Amino acid sequence: MSKKIFICRECGYAFPIELSNLINQNIQVYCEKCGSPFVLEGVKFKQVQAPVNRKFTPSVVLSEKESSNLDKFIQFLNKISFLFFSFLFRLN
Ligand SMILES: [Zn+2]
Repeated sequence: MSKKIFICRECGYAFPIELSNLINQNIQVYCEKCGSPFVLEGVKFKQVQAPVNRKFTPSVVLSEKESSNLDKFIQFLNKISFLFFSFLFRLN
């Protein structure tokens, strides 16, 4: 297995072996010195910082959660008002 040294085009920083291994796996790495993405001609790197769960549509999940929370909140208010009125009724 031949060792390749990858050099940042922006600042000339030599990527360490751990990052070189990621580059060999076509995983996008960023320069530790200047933060610019490593570019290799003819190679498309996988973006690994993207969220893993892409099946969920955030807006749909959020609205479902909100509606169920609202239902629970309304039920909670109903209980509170019921307890409150029964309490008043007992006082009288
Ligand atoms: Zn750099």
